[in-house]
Amino acid sequence: MRQYQKLAMVVVGIFALTATPALAKPQWAIVIHGGAGVIERKDLTPETEAAYRAAMARAVATGTAVLDKGGTAMDAVEAVIVEFEDDPLFNAGRGAVFTAEGGNSLDAAVMDGATLNAGAVAGVARTRHPVRLARAVMEKSRHVMMAGSGTDAFAASVGLEQVEPSFFFTERRWSQLVKALTDMGLPIPPRPAGAPAPQAFTPIPDDRKFGTVGVVALDTAGNVAAGTSTGGATAKRWGRVGDSPIIGAGTYASNQSCAVSATGTGEYFIRLTVAREICALVQYRGLTLQQAADTVIQDRLTALGGDGGVIAIAPDGQIAWSYNTSGMYRARAAQGQAPVIAIYKDEP
Ligand code: ASP
Repeated sequence: MRQYQKLAMVVVGIFALTATPALAKPQWAIVIHGGAGVIERKDLTPETEAAYRAAMARAVATGTAVLDKGGTAMDAVEAVIVEFEDDPLFNAGRGAVFTAEGGNSLDAAVMDGATLNAGAVAGVARTRHPVRLARAVMEKSRHVMMAGSGTDAFAASVGLEQVEPSFFFTERRWSQLVKALTDMGLPIPPRPAGAPAPQAFTPIPDDRKFGTVGVVALDTAGNVAAGTSTGGATAKRWGRVGDSPIIGAGTYASNQSCAVSATGTGEYFIRLTVAREICALVQYRGLTLQQAADTVIQDRLTALGGDGGVIAIAPDGQIAWSYNTSGMYRARAAQGQAPVIAIYKDEP
């Protein structure tokens, strides 16, 4: 063997020993949030914490079931959010917070990263699953966003399940409203028609009123999608709309960069166009997904005085979350990796 061949073999050998194998891109991945806020160990009873963890585990299982058999990212986003909207633990669908007038006004959005198609609704009052309605706006109308009573009329016209407004009532959220209005010196509206008689409930320390749900997913075809659903902010007034249904603020997806769903003080997320901003940093500045999410949440959102967090996913399989609150209900799963479920800041 010639001298240079020996040398080449030694060099290759050293390289093989020292090179870190690149993590293979997962064929699919999903990241989920159930709201960010002041969530500390000392405030959650073991039962409440277990209930949240179980809900996040169910969500991961639902998303995994769709993606693992080759379902689309959009189908996974919808399937998980539909379940959250039926779970009174979360501020979305049933369990949504109340407006100052004593009603529920639900917002949701979805976006498909492959096509940049999007659908969003604000002020939904009678449609059981606002995320399905957002998807119907995307797929069955000429529009991207609908607001107010027209949303439910459109939902009925495309056959989506309609419910009495009292369907969304929970005692826990009602008591939050009563406390918020009392603190603000505003009148307490009568209990909604059809609401059950007052009953005992377990309060949950979410005085910052987050609890919005969101999902971002990457499917085996390499497409990303995002979706977010919320009741908004407790005691909101005058038709207030937050960031969740605003494309680019609380929800965004593009195969050119990433998919993002946000939760937090919506007014700040709108002003910073948080979701699009993260994707722009990935797309135009070449930041990693985690760097981009941290730049917008830890630096820009914090500097502006907003709080909350995001989950994000990129077509190359990167996933990230970032939040500036003490906790965020969150979970992630990817093909070939063990799922992670976390609440507090000191968890991975
Ligand atoms: N971002 C939502 C809003 O402002 C609230 C939340 O995330 O809980 O409507």
